[in-house]
Amino acid sequence: MSTDPAVAAADRAGAATEGRSRHVQRVASAREALAPLRAKHQRRAREFGPDVCTCCRDAYGEHAVWPTGTDRLLYSEEEL
Ligand SMILES: [Zn+2]
Repeated sequence: MSTDPAVAAADRAGAATEGRSRHVQRVASAREALAPLRAKHQRRAREFGPDVCTCCRDAYGEHAVWPTGTDRLLYSEEEL
């Protein structure tokens, strides 16, 4: 197993999508590479106020309102 996270993600995705189209394998590789970041950047509902990201912070050090620019890099528009 490679220590390069991109190569390791591609290896995991390749094993899971063996025999599928190249497009499916490429998308699976990208999703696998993003998975650790998606695990950190989750949408969290609050009792009052807008939903926030579990990881991103605003200028005051508080959880930032969902979705931030970073969250938009990790999730599809449908998932946001
Ligand atoms: Zn975030």
